[in-house]
Amino acid sequence: MNFREKLARFFYGRYGSDQLNLFLMILCMALLFIAFFLPAVPSYILRGASTLIMILAILRIMSRNVDKRRRENAVFMKILFAVKSFFIRQFNRVRYIKTYRYRKCPGCKNHLRFPYKKGEHDVRCPRCGRDFHIKL
Ligand SMILES: [Zn+2]
Repeated sequence: MNFREKLARFFYGRYGSDQLNLFLMILCMALLFIAFFLPAVPSYILRGASTLIMILAILRIMSRNVDKRRRENAVFMKILFAVKSFFIRQFNRVRYIKTYRYRKCPGCKNHLRFPYKKGEHDVRCPRCGRDFHIKL
């Protein structure tokens, strides 16, 4: 058995990498970067945290509990999506400040965009159909 086959056998049935691991690796690099360029923060804390995160990432790659790792990644992707949507929303709020205003539906918490017309308006949520009052 050559080295390549041994390696293939070693990784057989193991989880491998995913978006969460990529994120952990980037976080690791970011901590080392901060430790290097910002001497105000005690670097042993950052280097320690970075090492722990790296170990966690490697353990996830080596894990045979594929289901559990997949579920962790799904939770991570959900959080990532929420964070991403939040920043896109904030960006759009500023970008379209002259033409639109954003409000949350009191019923389903859906984020809604309204054409900017000063005054009070009765509106209906297109998602849940609830009627409510907004002031622009
Ligand atoms: Zn609604």
